[in-house]
Amino acid sequence: MRSLTKSNAFIDGHWVPVDQRFEVTNPATGEVLAEVADADAALAERAVEAAHRALPGWRDRTPQERSELLLKWFDSMQANKQALAELMCAEQGKPVAEAAAEIEYGASFVRWFAGEAERSYGDVLPRQSDDKRVWISKQPVGVCSAITPWNFPNAMITRKVAPALAAGCTIVVKPPHLTPLSALAIAQLASEVGIPDGVLNIVPSYEAKHVGKVLTEHPLIRKFSFTGSTAVGKKLMEQCASNVKKVSFELGGNAPFIVFDDADLDLAVEQLLICKFRNAGQTCISANRILVQEKVLDSFVNKLKSAMEQLKVDRGTADEVDYGPLIDQDAIDKVQRLVNDAKDNGAECLLGGNVLDELGELFYAPTLLTEVTSTMDIASEEIFGPVVAIQSFSDEEEGIRKANDTPFGLAGYFCAQDYRRIDRVSNALECGMLGINAGAISHAYNAFGGVKQSGIGREGSRYGLAEYQETKTLTLGGF
Ligand code: ADP
Repeated sequence: MRSLTKSNAFIDGHWVPVDQRFEVTNPATGEVLAEVADADAALAERAVEAAHRALPGWRDRTPQERSELLLKWFDSMQANKQALAELMCAEQGKPVAEAAAEIEYGASFVRWFAGEAERSYGDVLPRQSDDKRVWISKQPVGVCSAITPWNFPNAMITRKVAPALAAGCTIVVKPPHLTPLSALAIAQLASEVGIPDGVLNIVPSYEAKHVGKVLTEHPLIRKFSFTGSTAVGKKLMEQCASNVKKVSFELGGNAPFIVFDDADLDLAVEQLLICKFRNAGQTCISANRILVQEKVLDSFVNKLKSAMEQLKVDRGTADEVDYGPLIDQDAIDKVQRLVNDAKDNGAECLLGGNVLDELGELFYAPTLLTEVTSTMDIASEEIFGPVVAIQSFSDEEEGIRKANDTPFGLAGYFCAQDYRRIDRVSNALECGMLGINAGAISHAYNAFGGVKQSGIGREGSRYGLAEYQETKTLTLGGF
């Protein structure tokens, strides 16, 4: 199997070496995987200029030509799935099978937007007056930039790059310093399949601030897309205001997962496990607050505890593993702080609550807490770890009120069977995405994004293409 490990910046179709480097390590073993180019502001500017030069040629291709190149990129990711998955497991820690599923998921955005590229229509307005004709067209925004997080090292990039390229935009991406290798690997594949020089550029950076300033303030950039924490997102949004860039932000969540008394409890447990333990709980749509109606609390907790006892934690290269290490020591420290705070304030720990020292410093035990209350830190902060924190509620109205009691609104989940309740609760929950009796809700065809402080804009679906397009109105007179 070929190695796809690349360690330089990718600008204008070339691998650009940089003296300053930073180490990328394997979270399961501590092994250094590569020393990666640490781009500075000047190099980021060079990438923006390359994207600007590449724009006219790319924009002027027919949508069909762009679509065909995207499909070749999709095929290449599929053909190299195993190598990409192993690289991702090494730098990020998720099990190889789960990493392969992410490559499929990431590639599915490329295929989806290859299709959308060819079906992006404007409008011809019905005649509004005798002397004019009006139509509305879609145009690429122009040069774009993106900053992405480490939890989905492939898919968080493709869900931005694919619609940008499909729309006719060029782009500069700063991947996270913890997982730049997956980003650089797919840039190599893009180059091999003939995506023209300068259309996709990647600038890794250890200390993101300076490159981030260029990507949010450079006047040649017309659109900025970010996935990451709300705190950093707010700062970058301010920076984008300097020249009124078009923006998309996918920020933090605090997803409720509500189990009502009419739920199928076995299904609820199954879906919660899928939702909670994917990527060891390190996803922005992980169920964070598990709200269970009092009548079914004991029965649900018993079933859940039995299921959690079966979870297998190990290195991502082991067989049949459910989850691997957390990303770094900061992640472990945060999870431990939240668990300790909950216990100190009266929560009961039925399982776990500790690091699995026998596996290594970054492996955290499947943890089950009950008697959690809304005033504990664990109820208001994103846990980003394998911890199920259960609160109870008495009736539907209280369940909804508790679920909405957060400044965030990315994903939400609930389990119920009464169709009238499903309708009521679906309307009442304040979030951009809802899983109803379903814990897995991410697909290229879905509109991914949040409300409240969880973000602006949508990724995937036909709405994801519109984020990279401007709407231009043409009025033709002289009739
Ligand atoms: P996470 O908690 O998922 O790491 P962050 O918001 O810290 O979320 O990071 C998401 C992305 O934002 C990463 O690529 C990171 O390097 C980048 N980032 C963090 N701080 C800044 C900043 N001040 N300017 C630009 N990018 C930043």
